[in-house]
Amino acid sequence: MPSQSYLRPSTALDHLKTYARSDGLAVAELMDSRVHGGLTYNDFLILPGKIDFAAHEVLTESKITRNVVLKTPFMSSPMDTVTEGEMAISMALLGGIGVIHHNQSPSAQAAMVRAVKRHENGFITDPVVLSPSNIVEDVLDVKERLGFSGIPITDTGSLGGKLLGIVTNRDVQFRSPSTLLSDVMTTNLVTAPEGITLLEANDILRDSKKGKLPIVDKEGRLTSLLARSDLLKNQTYPLASKLPESKQLYAAAAVGTRPADRDRLRLLVEAGLDIVVLDSSQGNSIYQIDMIQWIKETYPNLEVIAGNVVTREQAATLIAAGADGLRVGMGSGSICITQEVMAVGRPQATAVYAVAEFASKFGVPVIADGGIGNVGHVVKALALGAGAVMMGGLLAGTTEAPGEYFYHEGKRVKAYRGMGSIEAMEQGKPVPPSAKINGGSSSHKHLNATKTITHENAATSRYFSESSAVKVAQGVSGDVQDKGSVKAFLPYLHAGLQHSFQDMGIHSVRELQEGVKRGRVRFELRTASAQVEGGVHGLHSYTKRLFA
Ligand code: GDP
Ligand code: 5GP
Repeated sequence: MPSQSYLRPSTALDHLKTYARSDGLAVAELMDSRVHGGLTYNDFLILPGKIDFAAHEVLTESKITRNVVLKTPFMSSPMDTVTEGEMAISMALLGGIGVIHHNQSPSAQAAMVRAVKRHENGFITDPVVLSPSNIVEDVLDVKERLGFSGIPITDTGSLGGKLLGIVTNRDVQFRSPSTLLSDVMTTNLVTAPEGITLLEANDILRDSKKGKLPIVDKEGRLTSLLARSDLLKNQTYPLASKLPESKQLYAAAAVGTRPADRDRLRLLVEAGLDIVVLDSSQGNSIYQIDMIQWIKETYPNLEVIAGNVVTREQAATLIAAGADGLRVGMGSGSICITQEVMAVGRPQATAVYAVAEFASKFGVPVIADGGIGNVGHVVKALALGAGAVMMGGLLAGTTEAPGEYFYHEGKRVKAYRGMGSIEAMEQGKPVPPSAKINGGSSSHKHLNATKTITHENAATSRYFSESSAVKVAQGVSGDVQDKGSVKAFLPYLHAGLQHSFQDMGIHSVRELQEGVKRGRVRFELRTASAQVEGGVHGLHSYTKRLFA
């Protein structure tokens, strides 16, 4: 480095920066697989930058499809031990998205989509309405099926009828199920006129101290409804993934690519689906291309995430067919044996970089699917160009994942299985290893996923196994440790992400990806001993608590 004594300070700084910029590797150098081979997330690190802002200022907003932006880049996998209604609702409230699995009947899956869409609203434009001649039992039935009991009463018993009253939980408490609603409904109503803005209506609702605000036209006919509880949800979950207009949570679900999946999708769309994920372990198939084209013709407003892919060529075909987003990963999942059995796949970091770099030229975001084991992996996936990560194993042990906890070798666990495991392809109950070892005698409760099989098995189609006499497994079945609620775990991932960005001196996902592209963000390969050094080492014993 030349002496700077004779340089003016600003020139000296420029020189310093020029030298500093050459430290580490640019992404293209790091990802040159002819030199380094295919890389996983653990094979490299990102070099630190300069901190001049607080971690909470970091924006984690990112695109997962051409038209959907999330405030946090987290998605849960469409697996029967990971994402059903409860997980999908929680993920969306926390700023991510849960993709509801399809290893269940179409009607059960559609009911979960409906539950997500009903969970939070601005104006509820299709509220459940009853008439004065309905009875208390009808209200209890709505409460049981849909979870709410604040129901407007109109003369016709439907939307557009003249508003006569409202029944709430307290009106029906302690009443005989056969009591007429005309005898219990509240008629002293606060309403707001049609055409009012959401902000104005929210103010009236707040001031009225009522639970619901019916919106009526000039003739007093019911046109929509507002719920007070939605104001609270909005306050509690500021990052929630919601449609800008309706304020409903985004709903995403997976389907296959067989003819029956078109009927399934029809039900899901009727239930309010926003994003469909075409679930295949190898997405570059004529079936998927046909399916994308059919969806784009039939439901032009539905966002389609296609995949899975790991090469540019695969990506090109699906982008040409009309995909709005791509799911990247083959064989990197924690329950996955595809690379071992099929000899096909790609190390995940290399796959994410190759596909994201290509797809970004066409404005198509990619989702890094599988192999996410910690916050650092999320950061690396984003740095390599992913719009979001999709997690299975990391979320399968949370309260919101399907199934009950049980004890295995003294640890509190939940079942987690690959969708290409024999168990998922046969669609039985996930049997935890302890049960097998003990001859099935353990007394814990299993996953309640055994539904009446009225549909073709989704797992076999994901792995193209439906016509095979012998089912070749591409996944295993096991269990994962209790992680508590996603309502604590996702905020931990989010805060971790913000702190990592702060270390890199980066304010947002967009800035990170731009910095990587322009060579400003630098990388370093990790040798095997560097990986040992980077982990906890040299301790006799320790406790690893990830957050408090
Ligand atoms: P309730 O007091 O039992 O009616 O329930 P809450 O008001 O606490 O919660 C109702 C929740 O369900 C809100 O988030 C609404 O947006 C949502 N919701 C969705 N569809 C409807 C509907 O048709 N009627 C009502 N009352 N709420 C609905
Ligand atoms: P994880 O987050 O547990 O590392 O990986 C979850 C991802 O693994 C899923 O989103 C899906 O893409 C993939 N996956 C799920 N089940 C199987 C399976 O049985 N075999 C393979 N090869 N991949 C699977």
